[in-house]
Amino acid sequence: MSFTIIVFVLLWLFQILFFERFYSSTKLNDVDKTAASIIYSYENDPSTEFSSKLTSLALANDLCIEITDRYGRSIYSREYAGDCLIHGRENSTFSFIKMINDNNNETIWRKILNKRTNSYMLVYGCALGTPDRTEGFMLINATLEPVGSTVSIIKKQLMWITALLIIIAFFISLFVSRRISSPIDKITEGAESLAKGNFNTKFDGRGYLEAKKLADTLTYAEKELSKVDTLQRDLIANVSHDLRTPLTMLKAYAEMIRDLSGDNPVKRNEHLEIIINETDRLSLMVNDILDLSKLESGRQKLSPSEFEITAKLNEIIGRFKGISEKMGYHIHFTPDSEKTVCCDVVKIEQVIYNLINNAINYTGADKQVYVRQINQPGGVLIEVEDTGDGIEEDKIKLIFDKYYRSENHKREVVGTGLGLSIVKAVLKLHNYDFGVRSVLGKGSVFWFRISDPPAGRSPKQQ
Ligand code: ADP
Repeated sequence: MSFTIIVFVLLWLFQILFFERFYSSTKLNDVDKTAASIIYSYENDPSTEFSSKLTSLALANDLCIEITDRYGRSIYSREYAGDCLIHGRENSTFSFIKMINDNNNETIWRKILNKRTNSYMLVYGCALGTPDRTEGFMLINATLEPVGSTVSIIKKQLMWITALLIIIAFFISLFVSRRISSPIDKITEGAESLAKGNFNTKFDGRGYLEAKKLADTLTYAEKELSKVDTLQRDLIANVSHDLRTPLTMLKAYAEMIRDLSGDNPVKRNEHLEIIINETDRLSLMVNDILDLSKLESGRQKLSPSEFEITAKLNEIIGRFKGISEKMGYHIHFTPDSEKTVCCDVVKIEQVIYNLINNAINYTGADKQVYVRQINQPGGVLIEVEDTGDGIEEDKIKLIFDKYYRSENHKREVVGTGLGLSIVKAVLKLHNYDFGVRSVLGKGSVFWFRISDPPAGRSPKQQ
């Protein structure tokens, strides 16, 4: 609406108010240019050429032109403007020449009402020759057409156009603003309902591309939020289940010691051992949660140091000796030649530990786990393979997500669904490649690659 009003104010100003002034100044300009061209031709062209030029200029511009000698006697005369002021009446030429003389032979401009035609005329006059020696005079008469009637026609037309366009602009703006604001209103309502925790809100952004994009983005945000919500609920369920089991055991065995086995050293030690193991499982879980939250908050910084990778792998595998022997698991280690690597030893230890732990937890009935160290140019590839059920293609993307645990994971497996998230966070922090190859029914190979430090800090090879 404002734009329409601005356009019309400008149109009114230029078409109505300034119309006459514009017309006069344009005419004045034209006459000025014609005069300059006549003077040029007068000074440079031979007289026959000058005469024909004068005729064509007078014709083309509807002008009357009079060129006199210095006594006011006519030399050239062209009359095309009709009832002009410089021809026709006696002495009219002389009166204008007098005006030029009175003006010190400077150019004169006069806008004069021609009483006979009742229209304004523009008279231009100047002296020819040099400032010291006047050779003659030139007078030009141009008719200023009466613009009043034209202006009044335009005024009427403009009034209609203005009224019409203001009405059209009003309806267009009403329509456009409704089309924009109604989807945005709906999206806002949806966002409010989403903020209240309703993850089933439909975001409908029909209409403009931007509104549609906003709706799509909010739908995406909703999906992500609902995922986090479900994951967190799952975590609480998992954690509370996994916490409850050892806690129940702790309580049961503590009671057993108090009531039954307190005096029987063999039984008591057995029960105490279980209590210690369960406490370890508990603290392992709590540590996992703390570690991941620290890693993800970015507060964990790397403290790289050099160490021998084969020895480290042997040491970590050694930690599983107890469980291997007790439960019949077998970890086969295929080392490559010893190599010094440089990374955060504690964190990489945790990665290797988590991978071997998972392999033991998810390996097949044959209870075999394979750990391989493969030296490569620029780094060391570590692979941990199991012979379990494998992981479905679409689940592979998810297993590194926080809190993800497959539906069919073994309940007796202690875990929070955080182990692989920690692996991912640590390896990403180190900028190491990692991944998993899995064949359903055959098993999975989890791998990562410890890169050599950049040149200059190259660890010594053995
Ligand atoms: P969890 O504590 O459940 O083991 P992880 O983050 O270590 O948590 O693993 C996430 C999920 O990835 C597991 O619940 C399991 O479904 C799957 N997974 C991890 N390692 C293996 C493996 N070696 N074989 C098959 N599935 C695995």
